[in-house]
Amino acid sequence: MVIEPPGQRVRRRAGPIRRIKRWYRRLNYESASRPRTPWTLRVDLSLVLTGVLALIAIWILQSAFQHVTDTKTVDYHARMINDSIVLSPVGSGTSGTGQNTVHVMLETARAGWPFRTATVYRDPLVSWSLSGMEDVVTRTTQPRTPLTDHVELAPQIRTALETSQDAGIRPFANGHQVDVDLLVFIIVTGTTWMFLWFLSLPLLGLVGFSEGVAGHVGSVRRQARRRQNRCEQCGYDLKGLDFTAACPECGALLT
Ligand SMILES: [Zn+2]
Repeated sequence: MVIEPPGQRVRRRAGPIRRIKRWYRRLNYESASRPRTPWTLRVDLSLVLTGVLALIAIWILQSAFQHVTDTKTVDYHARMINDSIVLSPVGSGTSGTGQNTVHVMLETARAGWPFRTATVYRDPLVSWSLSGMEDVVTRTTQPRTPLTDHVELAPQIRTALETSQDAGIRPFANGHQVDVDLLVFIIVTGTTWMFLWFLSLPLLGLVGFSEGVAGHVGSVRRQARRRQNRCEQCGYDLKGLDFTAACPECGALLT
């Protein structure tokens, strides 16, 4: 039986939302001198919301806007050694169009808009024609297909890419990879955050304005009801009820 130290258990139970609430309480405590109105809460909330929105927007743009900047094809010669296939790179001098060749197409894409926030290494596209190797391969011809673990020669192709002399080829061994440029990502997200927050300010103003209008309408209506000797809350006619303490209809205290 494992007995956990009590402190650790408490720390694990505190969810992210509770932790954020604690940070927010501490922020309010540290900045106790700032005046607290419904507005400070609204501005804080709009800052958090626009921040989250900016992060999501940049992430979506990064997945949506990708275009291939570099395509290269690498050919491997397949040989049978001890009933298994071994791939060796075809020398740059020899052509890779001969028999028993595995073609690997490597695509690098720039992702993000308007600036490149990440470099994407796509799944390599593989194809082959291995006539005379029926004993070791189920599919002797393979039309161009993305390299996944279901592809028959996937382990051999991955190993071949991994051990490549070319540093630009090695990242493709692990399949689809997104290499985020953190600095650019943070700058673009931060700029978007500021932009969205400035956009949200008129919206906040509108909320305050409509609140003011609603309050004004309410006070005008209350004044009118008082003049007509009606309950301010519900408009119940109070004729002949001059000495009651509360409205018989809604229970509001009459002053
Ligand atoms: Zn009433």
